[in-house]
Amino acid sequence: MPTGTRLSKSPHNTNPDSLLKLTDLCVMCGMCIPNCPTYQSHGMESESPRGRIALIQSYLRDQLHDIDHMKTHLQHCTGCLNCESICPSRVPYAEIYHTAAAQLFQTGKKPRRWLRFLLRLMARPGGLNRLTGLFKLLSRLPDYHYLVHGMSTTEPCSQSVSSVPGQSDIYLFVGCMEQALDATTLKHATDLLQACGYRVIAPLNQACCGSLHQHLGDSTTARQLAATSNTLFSQDIPVIFANAGCGAQLRQNLPEGKATDLLGFLSQALKSSRLRFTPREQEVSLHTSCSRRNKMSGSSDDLAQLLSIIPDLKTRPITSKPYCCGAGAAHRLSDPQQTAAIRQPLVEQLISTGENLLVSDNMNCTLNFREALSDTDIRVVHPVTLLWQQLERTSSSCDI
Ligand code: SF4
Ligand code: SF4
Repeated sequence: MPTGTRLSKSPHNTNPDSLLKLTDLCVMCGMCIPNCPTYQSHGMESESPRGRIALIQSYLRDQLHDIDHMKTHLQHCTGCLNCESICPSRVPYAEIYHTAAAQLFQTGKKPRRWLRFLLRLMARPGGLNRLTGLFKLLSRLPDYHYLVHGMSTTEPCSQSVSSVPGQSDIYLFVGCMEQALDATTLKHATDLLQACGYRVIAPLNQACCGSLHQHLGDSTTARQLAATSNTLFSQDIPVIFANAGCGAQLRQNLPEGKATDLLGFLSQALKSSRLRFTPREQEVSLHTSCSRRNKMSGSSDDLAQLLSIIPDLKTRPITSKPYCCGAGAAHRLSDPQQTAAIRQPLVEQLISTGENLLVSDNMNCTLNFREALSDTDIRVVHPVTLLWQQLERTSSSCDI
């Protein structure tokens, strides 16, 4: 007897028959497979987009005898959407995946207990932030330090910069993980925006954007977090995000045009400001997150464009297939071996360049690379940190 149940009520308003029709759009051509990081790492059809869609089809047709088999292979998916971006039949993989994951969640096939605890914590305003002391402790323990390796919670040195008199207000989305693990990037983003003359408003009670909840099937909490963001960011001003992973989700949650990419916004703001940057004769590597490439239609050009304001700086994208670093969703924590295998081609390309600075636009990827490169002298930073470092000011005492 099949152990599956037909989908009841879809969290994305996709009923079972509609969802089946969506999966039927897949013509099984396999063009997505070479770009799938989990297929590259596991080498199995059920670890590919085509294999996952086929499993979901069987589930919807009550033909699947082992739901746990499907659950395992869905849970390995990093959510990179390399598949969706290359598919010639325009199969909406994300919608198919999220609807199936939500159904599994509702039928009791939930993520592991510690992951559910993490989801609850992320959904609380400042939830993860309260655990900063624990993160610091874990980072010192050999068995656990990979969990939080590369966290940056220390306050960066603060210096006066020439500021244009106030122009307009903007919101800054600080999220959950980023507040707790990458406060330095948020501080540098705030400093640069203020230096461009903006008043930065970061409302209290911000929580997670909900992308991890959605990916793991907790669609109820994802919807609640979307509603919270809409309430918190109610003024008709841009909501700036520094982390591409959160940004892709915020663009789903907030009215069209409101969630604004820090990189593009700063590129424009810096051009019209009087701020100057000291030259840096160096070639740096650029890593563009899957969230930017596949969910925001961006590319490494976004990073290069922003950094082009630094005189003499040269940039070079790292491009080894499958592009994904494997850290998507919570894989860096839940499946560190898979993550290490997926990121290896990128790490090798990076080391082969001989450069010692990698710029990445996404916190999860940044922490992942910092962990992978911890035995090297290669540093990994967000573009705003590099800009902040090069900003002309009265004196300088911070180095990266
Ligand atoms: S998802 Fe698209 S690219 Fe992949 S097998 Fe199906 S039709 Fe082909
Ligand atoms: S989202 Fe990424 S990991 Fe998941 S099936 Fe598509 S290509 Fe593979």
